[in-house]
Amino acid sequence: MFRDIVGRKDLIERLISAVHAGRIPHAQLFWGPSGDQKLALAIAYAQYINCQHKIHASDGHDLGGISSDACGKCPSCIKFQKLVHPDLHFIYPNNINGGTIKKDSRSLDYIEEWRQIYLATGGEFSYNEWIEKMGIGNRQALINIRDGRQILQDLSLKSSEAKFRTIVIWLIEKLNIEAASTLLKTLEEPEPQTVFLVLSENPDQVLPTILSRLQLVKVPKVEEDAMTQHLQLSGCSPQEARMISSRSGGSLIDARLLLENNEMRKNFHEAFADWMRICFRLDIAAIQAFSERMSALGREQLKFFFENCLDEIQGSLLTRNQCTQWIRAGEEEKNFWANFSAFVSNQNVHQYYTLFDEAIFLTGRNIYIPALLTNMSLTICRILTDAKKELQRQSTR
Ligand SMILES: [Zn+2]
Repeated sequence: MFRDIVGRKDLIERLISAVHAGRIPHAQLFWGPSGDQKLALAIAYAQYINCQHKIHASDGHDLGGISSDACGKCPSCIKFQKLVHPDLHFIYPNNINGGTIKKDSRSLDYIEEWRQIYLATGGEFSYNEWIEKMGIGNRQALINIRDGRQILQDLSLKSSEAKFRTIVIWLIEKLNIEAASTLLKTLEEPEPQTVFLVLSENPDQVLPTILSRLQLVKVPKVEEDAMTQHLQLSGCSPQEARMISSRSGGSLIDARLLLENNEMRKNFHEAFADWMRICFRLDIAAIQAFSERMSALGREQLKFFFENCLDEIQGSLLTRNQCTQWIRAGEEEKNFWANFSAFVSNQNVHQYYTLFDEAIFLTGRNIYIPALLTNMSLTICRILTDAKKELQRQSTR
């Protein structure tokens, strides 16, 4: 529902007033960065135009600052909310998983996973998280010709109960050329009472022929105040909510991960401390076990771990340079940094930064994670050995 969208009241009001004026475009492109609730917004919109008992703030309903919304209670609303409405169709990037789906995958094969991840995250999940949910390993996911045909098939059916049949296409930039030609035909000759809600994080990567047939709707990032309020309502302390809101950059995905990460920060610190100790001892068996354990985290979590590693290095460097007034951390971290700072100097700090920055970049790519972690461990061994030698040189001087 619109009232579940965080902030962006202006955009929602524009959508509502267009519906009231009878302007329901045949095909719209909701575009904006990852984590901006495009998908939830598209579903709220589809739910709204199909709800037969829309409610209005002017009738005394508390809609959190918006003027009108779907009722959330009628059979149509309930089916939209559970993503099970027979006139709500989804197309999203997919690929074979090598197990239950060995060839010719299409969106419909993953509809259960799709509903699960949507309902578990409130519709806020990244492309990488989706890949992990499908269990397709290192394969890239695309929208292929079979999905193009699926759209035609869905459209050939008579709308069974909804006022508007809705086709949601998530991440249209992943559409391949063959599938595009099928879709173009449909966009050129619109079926009556059919609404395409197309979503993109990178509209510059969308085929121009497709783009020109869509009405563009820019979805802005979540405003910082709205995010803070949302986090407080979800149980954060005011201070925690402000901190996470400002670090999230208006992305609900980042806010969710930061929230989890806040709880995980302690675990990440322990993992980092362990990692440095086993690298210092050059304990290859322990390094291998560590690589395997951390690989199980999944790519998004691992990125956060590496970002945490950067904080650890920074904390150690500040400690070494006696700039402790800038450090915000628990006692355990401070004690560790007091010791570890012997191995982080102004001379070698760039080696650590480069290592973790590259790891963050590579984790977003198709790299094999256990190998990445093992290679990183060996680089850390080298940095630590050099630092140890330097310490010995200084002590014998
Ligand atoms: Zn309703």
